Amino acid sequence: ESSVYDVVVIGAGGAGFSAAITAKDAGASVVVLEKMPTVGGNSLISGAEMAAANNWVQRKLGILDDSVERHFEDTMKGGDYKGDPAVVRTMVENALPAALWCRDVIGVEFQEDNLFFFGGHSRKRSLIPKGATGMEFIQKFMAAAKKRDIPIITGMKAEELVKSPEGRIVGVKATMDGKTYTFNAKNGVIIASGGFAANVEMRAKANPFYGAGFKTTNAPGATGDGIVMGEKAGAQVVNMDLIQTYPMCDPITGAIELIDDARFEGAILVNQEGKRFVEELERRDVMSKAILEQTGQYCYALFNDAIEKKSHAITHHQDEVEVFTKAGILHKADTIEEAAEFFKIPVENLKATVARVNEFAKTGKDLDFNYRARFVDLSTGPYWIYRGVPSCHHTMGGLKINPKAQVLDKNDKPIPGLWAAGEVTGSTHGTNRLGSNAYADIIVFGRIAGAEAAAAK
Ligand code: ADP
Repeated sequence: ESSVYDVVVIGAGGAGFSAAITAKDAGASVVVLEKMPTVGGNSLISGAEMAAANNWVQRKLGILDDSVERHFEDTMKGGDYKGDPAVVRTMVENALPAALWCRDVIGVEFQEDNLFFFGGHSRKRSLIPKGATGMEFIQKFMAAAKKRDIPIITGMKAEELVKSPEGRIVGVKATMDGKTYTFNAKNGVIIASGGFAANVEMRAKANPFYGAGFKTTNAPGATGDGIVMGEKAGAQVVNMDLIQTYPMCDPITGAIELIDDARFEGAILVNQEGKRFVEELERRDVMSKAILEQTGQYCYALFNDAIEKKSHAITHHQDEVEVFTKAGILHKADTIEEAAEFFKIPVENLKATVARVNEFAKTGKDLDFNYRARFVDLSTGPYWIYRGVPSCHHTMGGLKINPKAQVLDKNDKPIPGLWAAGEVTGSTHGTNRLGSNAYADIIVFGRIAGAEAAAAK
């Protein structure tokens, strides 16, 4: 069976929706192919915070000294200057317009009085959607796609890009229930199929360290299909060995611990010996590496009610609290002694660590690990303590793109009719993606890819 559209989008995550809606609003006919039975991909299960310098919430909170330039520098530095500067610049310059588009066109509701301060960012600049997960984005994207009559075909797996004799990408071959479908694309194809952190073999091939020894935080569809399809069509692939682990994940399933939100408001990390060993707001790669060096290759986060009142980590994530408590990886305690005893941490050590943190909270200076924010006094309970391990979270590598989201061939020339956006690309984050830069990346380049593809006749 075959059908014809102007633009064919592979993948119904944040990048794919942004691309499809933008292309449609520019007058193109669009279809979105999604291999899973449901939409959303990693974008759905993400915390979905979105970094944007100079945003409206910053103004409300009196954060007036941020700039696109700072966001650029943080992103480049956070990725050890391995990101493509032109691509990074495009991302940071368009992050705020992308957030405003999400708010004003798509109807995404953001928390109006709160921002996240993610590791590696020099300013608090990350917008938080309602509910602090990607659900808010994906629901609004679904509604926006429906309103525009954009077909989203779930259970349809893109298998292969179709190339014309002249070398232009003119369609996608896909399968559903063993049947093959051809989606012809008059203007071209946008690959928005996400990363490959859920593909153990591909991970191990890209970087043997990140093979079967790690679990993943990812949705099961993140198997790198778009990278493989792109490569077959002549695309250049970059930075494949750069794989990020998220430091605090469920030791049983590998999923991100949503209650780890508490860490951004002052939860401290301690090892099995009850001692701090890393700055709690460090880059994910640095923290993950530090955790892997501790006894048992895990650690604990500890926080109290004062931090809960700011982060709402427990109240927002009741389902997780229940599961974790049952599994014995989260414990609520009235005292530090009780918290320590539950996990067999030496009580005196943990008490000494907390006493020292309380001192740093008073002086505002962490003499041990130079905590970048101000610690919260931990002298009063109740307390929560949870165990976490690093888990494969984001694959920085993928298809090489230029600032127009065009996929480049091995000579850095755009492949006609082919665009890519989101985690499937490899040009933005260098060695290490900063928290909340993924949402900026997927929306910015999704929109660019959609606009470019719609305009390319
Ligand atoms: P991003 O954050 O870059 O938007 P996501 O992981 O949120 O990435 O979304 C990517 C989507 O692409 C997922 O829903 C995933 O199931 C889908 N996908 C992956 N491979 C294919 C494929 N071969 N065909 C169709 N959809 C795919």
